Amino acid sequence: MLYQLKKSGYAAYLVGGCVRDLLLGREPKDFDVVTDATPDQIRKVFRNCRLIGRRFRLAHIYFGHEYIEVATFRGRADAENDDQKFHESGQLLRDNIYGTIEEDVWRRDFTVNSLYYNIRDFSVVDYTGGMQDHRAGVMKLIGDPVTRYREDPVRMLRAVRFAVKLGFVLDAECQQPLRDLASLLHAIPSARLYEEFLKLFLSGYSLQTYEMLRHYGLFGALFPGVDRSLNEERQGFPKVFIAKAFENSDKRVADGLPVTPYFLLAALLWDSVQALAKQKIAQGIPSIPAQQMAASEIIGEQVQRIAFPKYMGIAMRDVWYLQSRFHQQTGTRPFKLITHPRFRAAYDFLLLRAETGDVEQQVADWWTAFQVAEGTNQTAMTQASSAKKSPQKRRHRSKSNRNKNSVDKPTVEKHD
Ligand code: ATP
Ligand code: MG
Repeated sequence: MLYQLKKSGYAAYLVGGCVRDLLLGREPKDFDVVTDATPDQIRKVFRNCRLIGRRFRLAHIYFGHEYIEVATFRGRADAENDDQKFHESGQLLRDNIYGTIEEDVWRRDFTVNSLYYNIRDFSVVDYTGGMQDHRAGVMKLIGDPVTRYREDPVRMLRAVRFAVKLGFVLDAECQQPLRDLASLLHAIPSARLYEEFLKLFLSGYSLQTYEMLRHYGLFGALFPGVDRSLNEERQGFPKVFIAKAFENSDKRVADGLPVTPYFLLAALLWDSVQALAKQKIAQGIPSIPAQQMAASEIIGEQVQRIAFPKYMGIAMRDVWYLQSRFHQQTGTRPFKLITHPRFRAAYDFLLLRAETGDVEQQVADWWTAFQVAEGTNQTAMTQASSAKKSPQKRRHRSKSNRNKNSVDKPTVEKHD
């Protein structure tokens, strides 16, 4: 499709992440194309084209359900913000001015993101020393870092994201202002921060990204409540729990398994919800409403920073609420719980808690065994746990557990 633009007499380049990733021998996530053709001219070249965007008009060229984004060279610098107006000095307002490649390059963020691959002669066009930085593995902002961060504070998050993803180091001048400027992120609309949150934490490098964001004082801009409780220095929790959640999630990405943002959000906010619920219980509010009120308040606070969709809040509440039900292992309740649409997520959450000492391992083990047990053995388990004190029944259950679960985790009664 680049050739179609060329044939029509326009310049066309691949730019940004795809050039950077291709030079590393990695498969790019997507391809961004820039051209000197205006959106209307692009539309005349491609029939399968849709123009999008109010802020800056872009063309999407469709190939079935997939599309490639084609932008026209931009003139002046342009902060990548929504329509919202900002009062911070230094933050640029939007503009729609088209320009040349020489102008376009300076509005890009990092030198390694400003390489253009010219299809005319298969050369890489480099105005900023991006090739050299790319070879050296350095993330460096184009121009004065403080000015560039002020123009668009999200660049601070992007700096961390790319450094981790590419295994590059952040140039000293780009590191230095981060702590001081972190609070500028409060001016960024929560919808945009949600998009960034997904890229930061669901790409398979969440643990390292989280550690680096904490290191530079940026994490608090995304999760102020969590950051506060992390700074409290309580015997390992929630630090270990959150780190484990990220570690598990990264492992899932590496194994090609799906990861859900609400699970990570639930893990991040779990400690805050528990702490707030405890306060409410101390004030005389009964446990269940205290938990529910705490969940609502914490979600309400967090969604102001990161605008996750409503259904995710509901899913998080389910996962939290189901934790208490894992302690009910008698009668028909376990059979009901196991059919709950959010059982799987809640069970994974339980495993994580058990791993980090937030709940007894034997509770998690019981549910692991219960899931793989067959009908009659399941019934035996729910009876056995209702008669935990009875040695006779206990022996009976262990026997039935032994023959079916030997491959899985040890069950509660393994010591028998
Ligand atoms: P990836 O798609 O792998 O996350 P990318 O570098 O392609 O990385 P995009 O967000 O797709 O990132 O942006 C494409 C290009 O647009 C970037 O490489 C950069 O040149 C430019 N760009 C994107 N966001 C900004 C920004 N906030 N400030 C300046 N330039 C930006
Ligand atoms: Mg991209």
